[in-house]
Amino acid sequence: MKKALITGVTGQDGSYLAELLIKKNYEIFGMVRMSSVNNLARIKHLINNKNFHILYGDMTDEASIYRCVNESNPDEIYNLAGQSHVGLSNNFSEYTTEVNALGVLRLINVINSLNLTNKVKLYQAITSDIFGNIEDNILNEKTTIKPINPYACAKAYAYMLTRNYRERGMFIVNGIAFAHESNRRPEKFVTRKITKAAVRIKYGKQEKLELGNLSVKRDWGHAQDYVKAMYLSMQQEKSDDYVFATGITTSLRDFCKKVFKEVGIELEFVGEGNNEKAYNKQNGKLVIEINPLFSRKNEKLNPVGDYSKAKKNLGWEPIITIDQIIKEMVSTDLIEER
Ligand code: NAP
Repeated sequence: MKKALITGVTGQDGSYLAELLIKKNYEIFGMVRMSSVNNLARIKHLINNKNFHILYGDMTDEASIYRCVNESNPDEIYNLAGQSHVGLSNNFSEYTTEVNALGVLRLINVINSLNLTNKVKLYQAITSDIFGNIEDNILNEKTTIKPINPYACAKAYAYMLTRNYRERGMFIVNGIAFAHESNRRPEKFVTRKITKAAVRIKYGKQEKLELGNLSVKRDWGHAQDYVKAMYLSMQQEKSDDYVFATGITTSLRDFCKKVFKEVGIELEFVGEGNNEKAYNKQNGKLVIEINPLFSRKNEKLNPVGDYSKAKKNLGWEPIITIDQIIKEMVSTDLIEER
């Protein structure tokens, strides 16, 4: 039976990955950090599984990482722990760097100090945000790295570091993932903010929703497809860098239209730029307006991922469509907000 250590197991991706690896007959060790509130909601259905174990640790504390790796003695480590919010990385730039950049260095140091360098395989969660606002529109493993916020800078450091250790002989996969969503996405991310707001507006619990630039387009996939890609990338003879994406983009405006339609509200958009507004066609009420504070500075308007290398080498392709993602998120919110 293979053993895997998953950092960030309480998060969206970590919880799906744990489910996938349990189905594949792994013994799972999930790193959980100390919290005064319950942070086990996404893995509560796994806690009593005999092949699932919780280990307490924090990516800012090397001794705790050492204990997690030593106690689990894993064949594979999936480092998904991260301060994952781009906007908030401006508020917590030092902490974001501690976790997303130095945390990776600590983990590699631990692997080496336990003499696991030639035994353990490491998956590192990178992000398409490392590409920043470069001119190319279709982004792949060869695209120039030009991060434009503390989150992306920290991930770019992790990317360079892991590539360096791979050159020295370690098995380390970098998954350069485009945004992926699910009904486990927290509300501080824009997709869930929209599905929650649409449902609350339908139920009369909220009047309107404030968003940034509605013309930005995003390459959104489903987290369950992306954890399959993580697993496949770790089963190869050689480690490499892979872009995981859908190759299809949707504007924030169209995402809103689809979400509100799903809850039974047809939207009509009027105006442009910061003056754009959306009204409920049925009753004429204002439901969406622009708050420029939610627009990211210098952001690329239409980045799209080219996942052809993952398709060729791993046989991976995303399956779940944006419409299915929306249906899943909205149906969960219709229950949660009732
Ligand atoms: P998420 O839901 O925010 O989960 C992040 C996980 O990291 C949580 O389990 C969190 O624990 C844990 N964590 C945060 N700080 C930690 C620390 N100091 N020590 C130990 N654990 C810590 O993020 P996700 O969407 O699953 O993403 C997983 C990884 O992929 C992240 O590194 C993210 O940056 C990266 N990524 C995500 C996307 C995406 O669209 N989802 C795209 C590209 C890259 P708590 O539950 O206690 O907060």
